[in-house]
Amino acid sequence: MAAEARDAVREDEVRAMVRDQIEARGVRDPRVLDAMRRVPRHLFVPPELHDHAYEDRPLPIGLGQTISQPYVVAAMTEVLDVGPGIRVLEIGTGSGYQAAVLARLGAEVHSIETVPEIAVRAADMLSRMGIQGVTVHVGDGWEGLPSHAPFDRIILTAAPPEVPGALVAQLAPDGRMVLPLGDSDQVLVTLDKEEGGTLRRTDLFPVRFVPMVRRRRNRET
Ligand code: SAH
Repeated sequence: MAAEARDAVREDEVRAMVRDQIEARGVRDPRVLDAMRRVPRHLFVPPELHDHAYEDRPLPIGLGQTISQPYVVAAMTEVLDVGPGIRVLEIGTGSGYQAAVLARLGAEVHSIETVPEIAVRAADMLSRMGIQGVTVHVGDGWEGLPSHAPFDRIILTAAPPEVPGALVAQLAPDGRMVLPLGDSDQVLVTLDKEEGGTLRRTDLFPVRFVPMVRRRRNRET
């Protein structure tokens, strides 16, 4: 198939994905739907999976990691409620797709990835696509990014067994965090930082993300 014809097919696939998987499940924010239509998901998966990029499921992106199901990306983006100038910290860059969707909404995204090869690949793809507003950092998400804190929003796309304290500390007053929380049973949770620093937790729906790894530190004894 000619490249042009293939791109046209992708356009149909994108439209169907948004209509059948995302709008049909209740995501309503037109800005989020628009961002999901405009970021070409197939470019964030390995070439041999391009034909599956718009299916209703997560996909492997190599090195044992996955790109989340389109609906989960859209739902997390909607509850994160970002717009131009909003400062976002993402834990788990992976393919860079979630970061690209947030940047498409005007957010200023800092994304931390613990596996250097994955971080480099995502940063390359984002710059080749001309997506601005995402900075990829190699590091440990458990520590967040104190040098760039506070953040208006924090999104985790790897699941911790408990809420990382450093991230709560780096969340701005009135800020919101969205994360998959738990080990084998995970639930998608929002945490809103209210006056006085208390956190209000809302449970959304069960999810299944890769675990957020703890980096072993080499400490001299
Ligand atoms: N947001 C991604 C999907 C993330 S998959 C996307 O849109 O494609 C989860 C990613 O989290 C993996 O790449 C994994 O290496 C990374 N990860 C796991 N534990 C981490 C940690 N402690 N700090 C930073 N990244 C972590």
